[in-house]
Amino acid sequence: MNSSFNLDSGQNSSRDFDTLPEQAQIQCWHTWDASDVREQLEATTPLSAEEAAARLAVSGPNRLPEGRSSGPLARLGRQLRNFLIYILLAAVAITGVLGHWVDAGVIMAVVVIQTLVGFIQEGKAEQALSAIRHMLAPKARVVRADGQHNVDAADLVPGDTVLLEPGDRVPADIRLEKCHNLKIEEAILTGESEAVEKSPEPVDKEVVLGDQTGMAFSGTMVSTGTGRGVVVRTGTATEIGRISGLLARTTTLKTPLLEQMDRFARLLSIIVIVAGVAIFSGGLIFSGLPFRELFMAVVGLTVAAIPEGLPAILTITLAIGVRQMARRQAVVRRMPVIESLGAVSVICSDKTGTLTRNEMMVTTAVLGQRRLDVTGEGYELEGMVRQDNQPADATKALEELARAAALCNDAHLDFRSAPPRIQGDPMEAALKVFAHKASFDIETSAREWPRQDEIPFDTQSRFMATLNHDHHGHGVVYVKGAPERILDMCGAELTANGDNAALDRTRWNQVIADLASEGLRVLALARKPVPRGTTDLAVEDLDTGVELLGLVGLLDPPRQEAIRAISDCHDAGIRVKMITGDHALTAGAIARKLGLRNSERVLTGKELDDLSTEALQQLATEVDVFARTSPEHKLRLVEALQAQHGVVAMTGDGVNDAPALKRADVGIAMGVKGSEAAREASSVVLLDDNFASIAAAVREGRTVYNNLKKGIAFMLPINGGESISLITALLLGLALPISALQILWVNMVSSVVLAMTLAFEPPEPDVMKRPPRPREQSLLQGFLVWRVFLVSLLFLTGIFAAWFWAMHHHGDQSMARTLAVNTLVAMEVFYLFAVRYLDTASITLRGVLGTPVVLGAVATVVALQLLFTYLPWFHDTFETSALSLDMLIFACLAGVTVLVLLEIETWVRRRIWPARLN
Ligand code: ADP
Ligand code: MG
Repeated sequence: MNSSFNLDSGQNSSRDFDTLPEQAQIQCWHTWDASDVREQLEATTPLSAEEAAARLAVSGPNRLPEGRSSGPLARLGRQLRNFLIYILLAAVAITGVLGHWVDAGVIMAVVVIQTLVGFIQEGKAEQALSAIRHMLAPKARVVRADGQHNVDAADLVPGDTVLLEPGDRVPADIRLEKCHNLKIEEAILTGESEAVEKSPEPVDKEVVLGDQTGMAFSGTMVSTGTGRGVVVRTGTATEIGRISGLLARTTTLKTPLLEQMDRFARLLSIIVIVAGVAIFSGGLIFSGLPFRELFMAVVGLTVAAIPEGLPAILTITLAIGVRQMARRQAVVRRMPVIESLGAVSVICSDKTGTLTRNEMMVTTAVLGQRRLDVTGEGYELEGMVRQDNQPADATKALEELARAAALCNDAHLDFRSAPPRIQGDPMEAALKVFAHKASFDIETSAREWPRQDEIPFDTQSRFMATLNHDHHGHGVVYVKGAPERILDMCGAELTANGDNAALDRTRWNQVIADLASEGLRVLALARKPVPRGTTDLAVEDLDTGVELLGLVGLLDPPRQEAIRAISDCHDAGIRVKMITGDHALTAGAIARKLGLRNSERVLTGKELDDLSTEALQQLATEVDVFARTSPEHKLRLVEALQAQHGVVAMTGDGVNDAPALKRADVGIAMGVKGSEAAREASSVVLLDDNFASIAAAVREGRTVYNNLKKGIAFMLPINGGESISLITALLLGLALPISALQILWVNMVSSVVLAMTLAFEPPEPDVMKRPPRPREQSLLQGFLVWRVFLVSLLFLTGIFAAWFWAMHHHGDQSMARTLAVNTLVAMEVFYLFAVRYLDTASITLRGVLGTPVVLGAVATVVALQLLFTYLPWFHDTFETSALSLDMLIFACLAGVTVLVLLEIETWVRRRIWPARLN
């Protein structure tokens, strides 16, 4: 230890929480011995919960402040940076200068409303996003006085003991005290992409970060190995905190569709300006219209043509979709994925924990010639090991099997609660429960046989080994893992009385096949005695001298809700594939219970390796069960399925799954057992690791996409109908059927109120009965374009019909315009009901009853239109007049006609072209 760094030697014996965390932030910890660090931080033993809380109050939460990119002022500013607002402000200025105060006032009011609506909506969307960010808060595995916990990384304090595993993001700056093959990728701090090998030894001088091998720095990523250490700096005091100070995490509500709409709107704006200038100058020169009339006509045309309400509606639709998915336990990390989710055609899912419950229980043990069964329920400790319905004899062989199960094990069982609280891998917890039922004293043996070294489990090698010593120096290696793998190591097997016999491989293969076909996960346990004084364990040590202790069979029942969700997916034209590291027979048996399509054919990782890319593409679509796979196979599978035009969702939890998760159209990480690396590579995180949540997310994805489409299909024809009407009138030299201010009213008030309801539209009843939308299909083509065109023409016809009819019967221009506006709004109201079911009949009981949101909006709009038509203030402002009953009936009839015509159109279209146009 280099004592010159000890700032206040002699004073740290007083437990002074007020200064402790501050002191902790400033040391050159990498030069210290790990044990001295603990002493200095007054944390020689794991902190108690109270102590941690006291320290947290002083050190503050272990997180970096978030970027302040979107304060309310910035948000307000964004609303004003909008093309339409510029035009409107210019119009306010010009009408003001000309002394048209009413015009200027109304346009100004519109600017204010438009800005406020955008401001509030964006705020709501941001709220939805930040709530989600909170759900994805990073976690840390910490050892406190009362055992191991998974806590929010924000709660870490200096002195805490933290465990690291592959795929973890290091949660704070940590002085390592124990490393096993630990390698950490520190690119975000040092720019060096190669992972750095760590070791607990102090480095004796001040060196750059990259050479401080005894430290693990906050924000860096564990690529392999495991480690344990003590937290020395948290929050902004960490190295990453000092560099950046801010957490750059800006998620925006942008998806390909929204960007497409933005481009479309920009193009439209340019066309509108050019057209406006042309019409204005042409009109000044050729028509005798007065300046105000002409100017307001051009303003009206601009407002009519630009779909100003649309971006807000699309944004809020997305935000609501994101919130809805979060409610169903699927948290969206990248916005564009919402659209891909709706198009998913293949879901590749992990088995253990996603399709199955991951509540394992050992039901069978086979040792020597004996097959034993184990009674009990889940992780409850009651139960026993039986042979032929009698309690099994406590043989040496059974004791050794139980010892291997208990020692070659990283799970923790907290026996104080019932059923015991489990920490770590559920399968390993099940092995501990099994050892307990076999009357093995787990706690004593853990004391008597401490672990010296280990080879951690890894999905590639499929086994785990530990080196344990008793206090007399006897050493034994215990191994557990996939049975084929373990049998390959073993030369002998243990007999009932503890002697060695030659391994009967054929018989064991038969036993494995029998257990696996029952859907049990089979695990082999073995041991190897090692010479006194052996302290290191390497994979090569397991090549010889390993003795098989026996097999256990674990039951992991399928999730009931997964079975239902799989059948829903099949109805929705989505193929579900199961990818597992488990045995082929186990996988096949579980697949049958789950109701997968093709559960007879199981493709193993080994077979997969031998396939050419073309052959794999063929088989990948056909086969639904993949067993004994490693994470690399997932990547090949995603690519093969994508090559066959699939839109692929893929689940994963480990570091090695990251490439496949990134590559998939929808990468889905497990929120509970997933590593941070997997989460960061994915676009969706499941909070409950449950397959049913994926199906729910797909349903929401389809709904959001449909609602975006409905929003567009609703808004565009309004703009289309209005602008064609104005242009027609201008070209034909007619009076405008609707005035500029009236158009502002329709677009900013009535249409927005109606369109907003589409964001809340529930899923259509058959949303999961249709095949997925093809990947290439763009929204702004085909059917939608046709619909926009058709409805624009209907609106145009309605507007002019109303205007001519009123002029003919009453000869009053303001009355004719009022009727034209009311007719347009009535057509919008009825069109809203048509748009809610784009592909199916709208005039159904469910369709007409609507939703409370729709009915509320319709009532609001009717009330607003009555004010618009009958309130004198509106008469003065918008130049409207009161209408007679026959005129109101005219407007309603026009609306009904639109609905009926579209209903007929839908019916005819479905006759001619029965394939759905999603
Ligand atoms: P899954 O796809 O079902 O999650 P894994 O990749 O986790 O499969 O495991 C594959 C195989 O590795 C298992 O069937 C089992 O034989 C073995 N295995 C799994 N976990 C462990 C462990 N903790 N220790 C030893 N072997 C294990
Ligand atoms: Mg697993």
